[in-house]
Amino acid sequence: MINRRDLIKHLSTVPLLGGFLGNGTAEAAGLLAKAPVRNLAKELGIRTFINAAGTYTMMTGSLMQDDVVATIQGAAKEFMMLDEVQTKVGEKIAAITHAESAVVTAGCFSALTLGLAGVLTGMDQKKVEALPHLEGTGMKSEVIIQKGHNIGYSHALTNTGCKIIQVETVEELQKAINEKTALMWFLHIQSDKGLIKHEQWIEIAKKNGIPTMIDMAADVPPVENLWRFNDLGFDLVCVSGGKAMRGPQSAGILMGKKQYIDAARLSMPPRGSTIGRGMKVNKEEILGMYVALDNFVKMDHKKEWKIWEDRVATIENAVKSVKGVSTEVTVPELGNHTPTLKVSWDAAKISLPVKTLQENLRKGNPSIEVMPAENNSLTITTWMLKTGEEKIVASRLKEELSKAVV
Ligand SMILES: *Cc1c(COP(=O)(O)O)cnc(C)c1O
Repeated sequence: MINRRDLIKHLSTVPLLGGFLGNGTAEAAGLLAKAPVRNLAKELGIRTFINAAGTYTMMTGSLMQDDVVATIQGAAKEFMMLDEVQTKVGEKIAAITHAESAVVTAGCFSALTLGLAGVLTGMDQKKVEALPHLEGTGMKSEVIIQKGHNIGYSHALTNTGCKIIQVETVEELQKAINEKTALMWFLHIQSDKGLIKHEQWIEIAKKNGIPTMIDMAADVPPVENLWRFNDLGFDLVCVSGGKAMRGPQSAGILMGKKQYIDAARLSMPPRGSTIGRGMKVNKEEILGMYVALDNFVKMDHKKEWKIWEDRVATIENAVKSVKGVSTEVTVPELGNHTPTLKVSWDAAKISLPVKTLQENLRKGNPSIEVMPAENNSLTITTWMLKTGEEKIVASRLKEELSKAVV
C-alpha cells in the first residue's frame, strides 16, 4: 500500500508537477481514492432496467462503451475550438467510411435536416439565414421520396421548408423530377417497401443532376454498411451514433460529398441565425462518437454475434420448457440486424395478456424491458444485455409464464 507521504514523495520527483500538489494532480495520477460518484438513479428514483428489448430511443438507445465515457471525461477538462474538433474528427470518420467528408451531428435526424440544408444553400450565407423560408430565394423546394419510405422521419426534411413529393413507380419518379427538385431521398430500412432499389435511384438521380441522400440510422450491423452506401454513390449518408455503435445517444454522422458537408456546416453551431443552431453537438460527444465508430469498426463482429446467439439460446431454452410456449429466432434483414427471439404462447394454455407480462417484468427486481408483439407474444434481442443478464431474463420470463399456466 502506498501512503500519502510516499505518494507526495513520489509525485515530487515527477518534474512537471513541480512543488505544488493539488488534489486534481493526485487524482490525475490515479493514486488517491476518487470522491464517491452520486447515484442519480437512486437519488431521484429513476428506474433502471435490463434492456432485453433493443436500441429504442425511449429506452435511451444503447450504453456507451467505457472508452467513449473515458473520452468524454477527458475532453470535458479542456477547451477546444468547436470547428476544429469537427474538422479533425470529420477527416478521420471520412477515411473510415470511404466518404469525402463527414461531420458529427445531433443524431441521425439532424443529419437529415442539415444535409438537406447544405444541398439547398450551398455556400451562400444569405440562403443559410433565409431557411426555412424558400420562396423568392432561388432555392429549390421539393424532395422526392418513395411512398413506402415516407414514415415519420421525413419530417426532418420538411424542417428545411421543403415539400415531400411521393412517387411509386419509375415513371412517376421521372415525371416528378423538375427544376424545383432539391433531393432524392432514400430510407434503407424501408427499401423492401419501395419498387425502386438503391442503384436505380442513384442512377436516375445522376442522370438528372439531382443529389441523393440515404437514411441508414439503424442499419449497422453489418459494419460494412458504414461504407457501402458511400461506395454505391449516395451523395449524403446519415447514421445514428447511439444505436448499435454505442456512441452518445444524441450523436449521429452526416457523411458524403465535401461540397455538401461544407455547406451543411454553415447551418451548424457555432454559427447562429441558422435552422441548425439548436442541433448542437458538444466536443465531448463529437470525440466520443469518433471513438465509438473507431471501436465498432475494429471489433470482432463474429465473436459479438456468437455472444448474442448464445444469450438468445439461453432464454429460448428456458421458456420453451413451459407447456404452451413456442419460440422462433429470426434476423431482420433491414434495420436492427441482430438475432431476434419471438416468444409466443397459446392463450388457452397460458392466461397472460402480453401487457400484464410486460408490467410484471417491469415491476420485478431487477426490472426488465421486453418488446410486446401481438397479444400473446413478445420479442427479445440480446445485444443490449450486459454479461450474465440473459440468465435473469430467462428465469424471470419462465417464472411469469409458468405462473400463468391454466
Ligand atoms: C432512429 C432513427 C432515426 C433518428 O435517429 P437519431 O439518431 O435518434 O436522431 C432516423 N431514421 C431512422 C430510420 C431511425 O431508425
